[in-house]
Amino acid sequence: MAEEEKKQETFRFQAETKQLLDLMIHSIYTNHEIFLRELISNASDAIDKLRFASLTDADLLEGDKEFTIRLTPDAKAHTLTVADNGIGMDREELVKNIGTIAQSGTKEFLHKLEEANKLAREAEDGTRKEGGKDTTDRDLIGQFGVGFYSAFMVADKVTIVTRKAGGQQGWKWESEADGTYTIEPAAVAHHGTQITLHLGEAYAGEGAEQDMTSYWTLEGLVRKYSDFIRYPIKMEETLEEPGKNEKGEIDEKAPAVKKVEDRTLNSMTPLWKRSKSSIKPEEYDEFFKHQFHEWEDPLCYYHTHAEGTIEYTALLYIPGKAPANLYFQEYEPGLQLYSRSVFIMDKCKDLLPDYLRFVKGLVDSPDLSLNISRELLQQNRTLRVIGKNLEKNILKQLKEMLDKDRPKYEKFWNEYGRSLKAGVYNSIYDPETKKEQLADLLLFMTSKDGKLCTLKEYTDRMPAGQKAIYFATGKDKEAIGHLPQMETVREKGFEVLFLLDPVDEFCLEALQQYAGKKFQSLSRGDLDFGDAESDTSKKETEDLAKDNESLLKDVKAVLGAKVNEVKLTNRLKDSPVCLVAGEAGPSFAMEQAFAAANAPMFKAQRILELNPKHVLFGRLKDAYAAGKESQEFKDFCNLLFDQALLLDGMIPDDPAALAQQIARMMAK
Ligand code: ADP
Repeated sequence: MAEEEKKQETFRFQAETKQLLDLMIHSIYTNHEIFLRELISNASDAIDKLRFASLTDADLLEGDKEFTIRLTPDAKAHTLTVADNGIGMDREELVKNIGTIAQSGTKEFLHKLEEANKLAREAEDGTRKEGGKDTTDRDLIGQFGVGFYSAFMVADKVTIVTRKAGGQQGWKWESEADGTYTIEPAAVAHHGTQITLHLGEAYAGEGAEQDMTSYWTLEGLVRKYSDFIRYPIKMEETLEEPGKNEKGEIDEKAPAVKKVEDRTLNSMTPLWKRSKSSIKPEEYDEFFKHQFHEWEDPLCYYHTHAEGTIEYTALLYIPGKAPANLYFQEYEPGLQLYSRSVFIMDKCKDLLPDYLRFVKGLVDSPDLSLNISRELLQQNRTLRVIGKNLEKNILKQLKEMLDKDRPKYEKFWNEYGRSLKAGVYNSIYDPETKKEQLADLLLFMTSKDGKLCTLKEYTDRMPAGQKAIYFATGKDKEAIGHLPQMETVREKGFEVLFLLDPVDEFCLEALQQYAGKKFQSLSRGDLDFGDAESDTSKKETEDLAKDNESLLKDVKAVLGAKVNEVKLTNRLKDSPVCLVAGEAGPSFAMEQAFAAANAPMFKAQRILELNPKHVLFGRLKDAYAAGKESQEFKDFCNLLFDQALLLDGMIPDDPAALAQQIARMMAK
């Protein structure tokens, strides 16, 4: 054979390859450990190719019964070898595939395969369908570019020993990534490829940052990145057992016994790739805990496979308990990404909108590239399409849970309801938010029976005359129950939504209406119930206001900047006063939320409303008769205002002054 006579030859890397190598050495990836994922993917790919070729030529297998990828670390020599019994390479392929990047062997192979499939389809009358065996064969990992070169992120020198299946001559390729590589003939007993990494200081030996010759490191990396490669990834583990005496008892003086066990490191089938019907609920739960390091079972899961323009499989979970830091900066939301079962990244934030930050899970799509960077991901159309689909489906699943399993949904709501409300609020900034679907998923406590109720349930049972959806804010339902504003609504038999969470009001603000009914706060703006009775009492109040114009003006004068306006109201029955916020600007609850978020400049307008039918209004008039500068009148005004504050759950600015005013009144 002419080739055999040749001795070592030196080649220069193609300019682009050299560039890529330099990039690898001064790494574009920060996590160098992914080199193993890349080499294992290539090995798996090479086995795929041989498997496919052997379908028509069984001799190529040379008697092999099993396909394997084998890791052989050598701690003394500081090397790691990744070997496969796949298709292997001949000299020409070594030059073309490893020395050049423009030519990807996998791409070429896929092209050939496609041609072959086309021919096969034509021969079979076009009866083959997508999803059949041919697509599985095309399911090859690694038409993704940098692959092999990532070896140089951890190795100073790489040696490839390979022989093409069915060929005679083996070859040795070697490079120190200095711009050149060598190729020489070599005797290679078995078909396939062995790639030996001569590891750099940081990756082997004492003081290594990450020892790539350690069994545990390698096992961990295989589990993390290549668990679901469908060929066994094997490695020998050396165990030392304490020595034993003649009787078979453990004896410290006897020499330790070394035992070598061959282990398979990967589990081989990803759960998500199995058919839904073959997976038991316990398996889904176990997988959740294993994969996402959770302790409790998930609340629910969602497993889906989509084909069409974009193909993907998703396995999503809602954890049983929301993490304590769910709403803090340090919480990292996101799904795991895989491409053809090969791990790409953890916590990809660009799939689901932020309001679904509690969803855990993974997406596996052959349409995603393995070497995609975080920056590129953000603009990735495939991801966007998948994300939109998933969002739609998660909302659909939640709606189904709400309709069919209310206790479970309420459990969900108690853990994550706040996220959905934040989602509604965010629709202000993101018009693509599914506001309407989200509105149907909201639950509120109400004045009816202390049970959680949907907006639909509320509007469905509204009495005919009710014009708006009423709500009141407060720290708990007792506080809201004591609000003076509740009196009239209660009398009219209207149900009131209790907003107990500071985000609630922002959420309704963003919604504005539901089923054509506006949301109306009991503590904000004018309350117009829109019925005949209200109309007459409104007219009466207006007339009274005219008669008491100077009184109202002087109450305002006493209170000064504490209130924006003082007026008479028809919204109260038994209470003398209440404080409401102006129609424009934030409400009191919102003001408090802003203050908590360090934005104290957003202040609610304060309007003090007096109940002209209350006895205290008569007393106020009596005090006023003593003169607008009299102590009695001033005390009266301040007491009414402080009372309104207290009823609304706010603390008067000057408790000492309040106590003095009360004392003066009591002394009378
Ligand atoms: P990619 O896998 O994206 O094509 P790589 O740089 O990882 O890029 O590999 C280049 C080519 O080298 C592959 O397409 C394949 O033809 C060949 N190759 C790499 N590793 C192996 C292997 N273990 N066995 C056979 N061929 C391999």
